[in-house]
Formats: sequence, C-alpha cells, structure tokens
Amino acid sequence: MPGFFRSRAGRQCLSVMMLGGVLWLLGILLEFGDGLSAFVQMFDDYGAEKLVLAFVIAGAMSFIYSILRIADLRREMELRAAAQFKADWTATHDHLTKLPNRYAFERKKLARPDASDEEYNAAARNVTVFSVDLDGFKKVNDLVGHKGGDILLIEVARRICSLGNADCVYRFGGDEFVIIGAGMTEEREKHFARVLIQAVTRPISIEGFAVEVGASVGYERWTEGSEPLENAAHRADLAMYEAKSRGPNHALAFEASMQDKVAERASLETKLRTAIQQKAIRPFYQPLIDLKTGDICGFEALARWSDDTGVNIPPPVFIGIAEETGMITELFENLLSQACRDALGWHAHIVLSFNISPVQMEDRLLASRILKVLAASGLPPERLEIEITENALIQDPAIAAVILDELHAAGVQIALDDFGTGYSSLAQLARYRFDKIKIDKSFVATYQEDERQEKIVRAMLGLGHSLNIKTTAEGIEEHSQLGYLTRLGCDIGQGYLFGKAMPADQAAAFIEERMQTLSAAG
Ligand code: C2E
Ligand code: CA
Ligand code: CA
Repeated sequence: MPGFFRSRAGRQCLSVMMLGGVLWLLGILLEFGDGLSAFVQMFDDYGAEKLVLAFVIAGAMSFIYSILRIADLRREMELRAAAQFKADWTATHDHLTKLPNRYAFERKKLARPDASDEEYNAAARNVTVFSVDLDGFKKVNDLVGHKGGDILLIEVARRICSLGNADCVYRFGGDEFVIIGAGMTEEREKHFARVLIQAVTRPISIEGFAVEVGASVGYERWTEGSEPLENAAHRADLAMYEAKSRGPNHALAFEASMQDKVAERASLETKLRTAIQQKAIRPFYQPLIDLKTGDICGFEALARWSDDTGVNIPPPVFIGIAEETGMITELFENLLSQACRDALGWHAHIVLSFNISPVQMEDRLLASRILKVLAASGLPPERLEIEITENALIQDPAIAAVILDELHAAGVQIALDDFGTGYSSLAQLARYRFDKIKIDKSFVATYQEDERQEKIVRAMLGLGHSLNIKTTAEGIEEHSQLGYLTRLGCDIGQGYLFGKAMPADQAAAFIEERMQTLSAAG
C-alpha cells in the first residue's frame, strides 16, 4: 500500500481524503451539523430530509466505488510492473542460455560500483574481462543440426557458470561468451583461461554423438575509474581473435601490438573498398601451356592490386579481406567481366581460367552471376574455366553440386585447383565431374627431393588419365621439372618457367610471340 500512495493516483486520493478531513473538522468547528438539522426541519415539507439522505448515500457509494477503483488500479500497477520486469529481462538476457547479454554488460559498465553492487565490490577494483569464442561451432551445427547446436551452447554456458560467479558470465551472441573475473593476479588469469578452455572442450553428448568444440580465449585487465569496461572487453576480443588465428584452443592476454594490427587491417579494408569501387584491382594473366604441343592453351586470371603508394598487396591478403567483409562478389564480378573482355581478343582456342573463392560457393546465385557476366561480355561459355579448391566444395556440398551442374550445363569447364592439399581430394573426384585437375605447386616444388611426393605426383597423373580428366601441373620453374612432368604425360604446365602473371597487353604480345616461335620451329 505505501507504494500506492507514492503514485499519482495515490497522492490524489490522499489529498482528497485530507481535504475531506479538514472540511469535517471545519464543519464541527462551525457547528455545521446543527445548521443542517435546522435546515432539514425548516424545509421538511419540501423533502429536504430525503435530499440529505440521498447525498449521504451517494457519498457512501462513491466511497465504495473509489475503494474498488483503487483495488483495480493496484492490480493494474502490479501487472505493469511484472510486464516491465519481463521486458527488462528479455532485453538484457539471452533466451537460450538465460545468461545476461551484451546489452546487460553495457548497462553494467554504466552502473557505478556501490554497496549494492556485489559483483564489483567482491574484490578490490581490478577485474579481468575474458572473451571466449568457440572453434568449430559451425561444424557441430552441420553435424547435429541447430537443435543440437542449442544444446551445446546451453551446456557450454552451464560449464562456464560452474567455474565462477554465474552473474559475471555473459553471452554476447552466437558462440561468444564474456566472463568477468575479479581481483586476479597474472598467474590466476593464465590459469583461469586454461581452465576455461578445458571446461569447454570436454566432449558433450548430443543425441548419441560425442561432440567436441574448441575455444579461443583472449583477456584484458580493467581498473575501475580508468575507462569504460567496454574498452577492456573490446581489447579482450582483439586478443581472442589473435589467439584464434593461431589455431584452436589458444589463450592470449592482450598486447598493444594487437591493436596496431587491427588498425592496419581497418585501413587496408577502407583502401580495398575504394579500390574495388574504382576498379583499381586488375586481372593479370599467367599462361597455361599445352605440354604436348608447346602451344598456349589458356591463361589463369590472377588478381593484382598495388595500393596508392605503389605497394603490391598479395592476393591471399586482399581476397581474404574481401571474403570476410562481403566485398568478394563485387570484386569477383568486376574482375571476371574485365577478364572476359580481355579474353575476347585472344585466339579462340585459348581458355580463360578464373578462380572462385570458397566463400562464393555458399552463394546459390553464383552460377547465374557468372553466366550473366559471360553473356554481357560475349565470351562463349566453352572458353571459360572455373577453378575451385577442394575446401570450397566441402562447405556445403549440396549447393556446390547445384552450382557446378548449372555451369557445366551451360558449357563452362570446371577445374579442381590445388589438388592434393585439401582433405577429401578423392571423395571430390568421385562426387563431381571435373574437366581438369591442377596438381598443387607444393608437389612440383618438392618431388625431386622427396620420394614419397614423387610417388604422389605419379599417382595423381595416373588418376587423371584413368578418369579421363586433363591434368595441369602448377609452379613449374625449372626445365628438369618440365621434362619430368611431360614424360609422365602431364597435359598442361603453368609456372614461372613459361611466364609470370602479366597485364592484358603483355598477355596479347606473349600470345603473338609464342605463335611466331612455334611456327618458326614447326
Ligand atoms: P592459385 O589459384 O593456386 O594461383 C596460383 C598461384 O601460384 C599464383 O599466386 C601464382 O602467381 C603462383 N605461381 C604461379 N606459378 C608459380 C611458380 O612457378 N612458382 C611459384 N612459387 N608460384 C607460382 P598469386 O597470384 O599470388 O595468387 C595466390 C592465390 O590467391 C591463388 O592461388 C588464388 O587462390 C588466389 N587468387 C588470386 N587471384 C584470385 C582471384 O581473382 N579470385 C580468387 N578467388 N582468388 C584469387
Ligand atoms: Ca588457381
Ligand atoms: Ca592453384
């Protein structure tokens, strides 16, 4: 009830009651009752008594009515408070694990540590923020489905909570958790990070499967009053990303160099965005040589970017960033359309080979995008060859099959790139119909010193022959390698021995030169 009197309706009720009391006292003081009975007697003939009675009854009824309304109002207020609490809880908690979420964490940092905030007062003014991200969670989802993934997240949350104060564990979304540890020494932090990894990586039984995930941990100390807690959480994240880049189940404390790396990467990302918009990234062309005739049978388009200071950025670096930031589709379409136009100027038997990155294989529209660019350029589909790595095919084999079938049906050729470096080469060969396999340059570079590698090269060439698939050897740098691979029946060669990737005008000149040399020799 005291709560009610603090509300507006309660205050009004109190004022009205007080006013009534004052009027009543005034009535007694001024002998209003005597006056009233004299009035009733005086106007008895006109029904004054009935009128007064009616007023008294009306007053009593209004009083009862007010009491009922007040009870209603109280119920309404309670419902509202419960709804507010529910809304607050929903906004600040993760439904699946019931842990507080990022929003709760951000609100927490605003709260000044005071006597009622046990979490901060528990240990001095030093806390350590641990950022945990699961490794291989996507694979678990693929294996046991999303429901299984949910079970895993709930179990991981339970295990983390059982390590310390449950109130200090947050789920920031997806497979990301944040834990706040209070008053830890450097040694304790290191130990706790290890314990965290051990707890998360113990197998979890889901629908009869013993499922395992890894965990990457980054952590950073925060001293009260120095800065918002969120900043420390951000640096713990940076340390976690660095730990993740070193492989699963690593833990690292934040170091200043990690921040520099991120700043560098952010600036590269901005430059890349501009370069893609301005079409400053160009396809270069590396010749593919028919080892039986010595003729050029194709060019592999390789992306080249030199930034505004003239520094060449390696393709794996900028393609990696384009993949992560979703710029790969635009970059790919720009490059492919430029390459198709360049290829139109080559002799009709020269094929354009073009690389597809694994991320693109998740795009159901990939085949139609490629065919659209082809149609716009006028290059016949038979003159395009798409190079795909084994790893690109295992992400989502069902989508990959649809993409490859659509491209094949249109007449585009498909080459399996970096053959032998992925982890399901033979399975891929059994599954899809490839027009070519490209033996990875690491085999060509090492077969001379390593007998086992040599046997593998022989086996790969034999496999190509028996499946009636053409073979290309990458990374031919020496005449001895060329002689050896030609003797073993390799169909196509590529490497610095024939030429590095070159701009379009040089590629055109290269074709002419090669033709002249061949006709002079023939
Ligand atoms: P990749 O598809 O295996 O391309 C062959 C790489 O080997 C190229 O490196 C090429 O320059 C290099 N190479 C060719 N011959 C030799 C040789 O004789 N010796 C040595 N040591 N290397 C040789 P690059 O251009 O740096 O490209 C690296 C990777 O970046 C490519 O590997 C490919 O995965 C990717 N990449 C390049 N351009 C594109 C592109 O336009 N799209 C996509 N998705 N990926 C691309
Ligand atoms: Ca390639
Ligand atoms: Ca390759």
